[in-house]
Amino acid sequence: MNIVMFGPPAAGKGTQAKKLVTERSLIQLSTGDMLRAAKKSGSELGLQVAGIMDRGELVSDEIVIALIEEQLDMNPNAKGFIFDGFPRTVAQAEALDGLMEKHNIKVDSVIRLCVDDEALVKRITKRFEEEGRKDDNPESFKVRLNAYNTQTAPLLPYYSAQGKLTEVNGMADIGAVSASIAQVLDKNGNGADVSASAPKKGFFARLFGG
Ligand code: ADP
Repeated sequence: MNIVMFGPPAAGKGTQAKKLVTERSLIQLSTGDMLRAAKKSGSELGLQVAGIMDRGELVSDEIVIALIEEQLDMNPNAKGFIFDGFPRTVAQAEALDGLMEKHNIKVDSVIRLCVDDEALVKRITKRFEEEGRKDDNPESFKVRLNAYNTQTAPLLPYYSAQGKLTEVNGMADIGAVSASIAQVLDKNGNGADVSASAPKKGFFARLFGG
């Protein structure tokens, strides 16, 4: 079973993804974690993305798609993947579909964690005070929220048209959010076909002008 954790920055995607790793033996693919690791290692990639990330902007599609492709190639026998922080643009979602097809797998379920902006700002302010993550400063966070609203939120109709999208209340406590997610995944079954309501051809072209 392959799951996309969807939601604005600080919605709790990473927290829930990690729980699913232990509970369901899935592999978490967090582009944010991969990029932060690159940054920390001081590699060429790290140097290239550091400023972009600190400002709260999105790293190029090309870079993150290559990171995901590498992981899919390296884990041919995985039970399933949880995509955390990826895809973040329509181009990334389309690339992911192509990569999944290449490996004869598919995205089974997209879980949207719904958290209102006010709560997000509260969470991020607290995290900035506690951990000092550079992109949690108020200026960068504004840029991240804006990137989510303009570049990532357009993916919602993409996945909802495929019948894969479920919304979960991300304002509840961590355990309650996990329970809601478990319910969604168990209802879908293990790899069950939830694409029955897939759009007719031409839908995306109409939607995104592509
Ligand atoms: P959050 O979800 O809290 O914003 P992430 O750890 O997912 O944090 O991402 C941190 C930063 O890494 C993003 O602001 C962006 O600069 C970069 N990043 C992560 N994933 C992607 C992606 N799929 N596409 C482009 N940039 C990304």
